[in-house]
Amino acid sequence: MKQLTVISGKGGTGKTTLTAAFASLAKNAIIADCDVDASDMHLILKPKVLEKEDYYGLEVARIDPELCIECGRCKEFCRYGAVSGNFKVDPYGCDGCAVCTVICPKGAVSMEKRISGQVFSSETRFGPMAHASLGIGEETSGKLVSAVRSNAKKLAEQYHKDLIIIDGPPGTGCSAISAITGADLVLVVSEPTVSGVHDLKRVLELTVHFVIPTVVCINKYDINEENTQLIENFCAKLGISVIGKLPYNDIVTKAMLQEKTLIEYVKSSKCLNESEFADQICQIWTRMEKILMNIQDKQKGTKTLEMKNF
Ligand code: SF4
Ligand code: SF4
Repeated sequence: MKQLTVISGKGGTGKTTLTAAFASLAKNAIIADCDVDASDMHLILKPKVLEKEDYYGLEVARIDPELCIECGRCKEFCRYGAVSGNFKVDPYGCDGCAVCTVICPKGAVSMEKRISGQVFSSETRFGPMAHASLGIGEETSGKLVSAVRSNAKKLAEQYHKDLIIIDGPPGTGCSAISAITGADLVLVVSEPTVSGVHDLKRVLELTVHFVIPTVVCINKYDINEENTQLIENFCAKLGISVIGKLPYNDIVTKAMLQEKTLIEYVKSSKCLNESEFADQICQIWTRMEKILMNIQDKQKGTKTLEMKNF
């Protein structure tokens, strides 16, 4: 079973739009929405939830008023300011560090599990999907990404799928690390804006650090051809393939408004320009399938790359 993770240095590059298009082109895949802080794949794929499990993130401290002598030590030592003046713990402020359980002289504090979200196993018109929702203000999205990925693997085994397509989070935080760890191939979707170029560099530093085979797709390449060239030069220097360059096209918005993938939308379009755009995405997908086929399951890249001179 292979795992492809699609990430981006920043939000708004078209990562999820492309991932949803790939989901409609893949023949035997599981879809995993690991952009758990701002998941939106469900808006296009409309999953029908088959199973739902509670997700437990950080534990939360609870003070037993029967045992508490109001000495104030927990309030003094809590660096998150989560203990109130009347010695109650604010569950949204508590970071689950458990310091208060150690310093309480009366053993009045205990750590309790708290439900931080849900993990779903669903079906979509393109096959099974693993996804999740994270509660408002909840953290530990990296741990939740792991839970979604592990759910996706179970679904892949259950339904005999040979590929997991992961829509990863933007950025380089722990949820992005969690989404790329152990992936066979990472596709970074970039755009040629100043921040896009900067964030591409950061995200490639991450995939290079973890030695994961990586390719790049430049979306809206024609909005700034100078920066596009900069990205291409940078990738060439690192030996990373730019496997596609897509022009700006309002088909993305039109497809989204109809809650369709680009590939589905184009089937009912008579516009030549839109069909050509979809063809380019199909070509990118075909290239990625070939790369995935040539990657042995256990063979992650071994090349270290120089990132200093960008
Ligand atoms: S440290 Fe223990 S006894 Fe002291 S205020 Fe906190 S909970 Fe109460
Ligand atoms: S567990 Fe940590 S963050 Fe939570 S109340 Fe205790 S000391 Fe504060």
